[in-house]
Amino acid sequence: MTPVASSCCGRFAPSPTGDLHFGSLLAALASCLAARAQGGRWLVRMEDADAPRNAPGAEARILACLEAHGFHWDGEVLRQSQRLEAYQAALARLRDERRVYPCACSRKEIAAAATERAIDGAWRYSGRCRRGLPTGRGARVWRLCAEDVDIAFNDRIQGQIRQNLARDVGDFVLRRADGRFAYQLMVVVDDAFQGVTQVVRGADLMNSTPRQIYLQRLLDLPTPEYAHIPIAANAAGEKLSKQTRAPPLRARRAAANLVAALAFLNQQPPSELAEASVEEIWRWASDLGRRWMEKLAPAPASPASGRRESASCGRAAPGCADHPLSSVI
Ligand SMILES: [Zn+2]
Repeated sequence: MTPVASSCCGRFAPSPTGDLHFGSLLAALASCLAARAQGGRWLVRMEDADAPRNAPGAEARILACLEAHGFHWDGEVLRQSQRLEAYQAALARLRDERRVYPCACSRKEIAAAATERAIDGAWRYSGRCRRGLPTGRGARVWRLCAEDVDIAFNDRIQGQIRQNLARDVGDFVLRRADGRFAYQLMVVVDDAFQGVTQVVRGADLMNSTPRQIYLQRLLDLPTPEYAHIPIAANAAGEKLSKQTRAPPLRARRAAANLVAALAFLNQQPPSELAEASVEEIWRWASDLGRRWMEKLAPAPASPASGRRESASCGRAAPGCADHPLSSVI
C-alpha cells in the first residue's frame, strides 16, 4: 500500500569528520524508515559547523555512501556552515531575554568549584558567573540558565524520559570558547527551520533531548517526536564512532550492511534477503511500515520512567562475539 503523503519529516544529520560507519547506517536507516512509513519526507543535514574537525572529502564520501546504500533524500542537503546567522539570531534573542550569560570560568575552575556531576559525567557548572563576570575577567563562553524544572518527553522507543535541567545538567554552553555555537543550539534551530517533526537517532543523544526541548520552548519552536534507537558497540563494549575507530562502511557491501542493520534493529530479515539486491532489501524494509518501530520497543518489564542512562541502551553490533566487526561491515 502506498502511504498517504503527510507532513511527517525526518532527518539524518552526519558530521563530515570522517566516513559513515555501522552506527551511522543504523541512524540513517531508522530515521528514513520511520519517515517513509508515514509517507513523510526524509532530509540529510551536514553538521559541518566545526570546520577544523571536518575531514577533506568526507561530505562527498558520506553522500556517495548513502546513495550506494539505496538512500534517497528529499531536497538539497542543508549545511550548518551556511546557517551561522540563524544561530546568532537565536543566541541574541536569548541574550535579550536574559536567558544566557557570559562565563569566564576555565575547565579547571569549573572542576575546582563543582560539587556534583552532570548526567553526562562531566562536572556540573556551579553557576559562578550567573550574577556577573568576576572583576577583570572576560567572557569565555555563553551559558544558558538551566531552570529548576523537570523536562519530560515520551520517547517512541525508550518510553517516558524525565530530566531536571538544574540538577542533571546545570547551566550549559551555547557558544563555546572558540566562538563556535554549541550542538544543542544548532540542532534545535535547524530542526525547526527544516520542519523536522520526528527525530530518530542513537540513544547516546537521549540525554541531550531535554536540553533541546527546553531550548525549543524558550525560542517558541515546535518540539518534534523523538525516538532513540539502541547504539551499536564494538567487541570492547565501546560505542561505534570515529573516536573508537569504527571501520568505514564499504559501498560494495551495501546489501550485506543493510541486512545487518535491519537485523540489529530487530526486524528479523529472512535469511534469503542476504542474497538480495539493495533495491530488493529496501522494498522488503518498506513493507515493514509502522510495525518496524514496535519491534524495537523495550520489553514492558524494563523501566519506563525516570532518569534513564544511555549506557543501558547499548547493544553489541552483529557479529561482534564471533567475528571481527570488519567482517560484518
Ligand atoms: Zn563562570
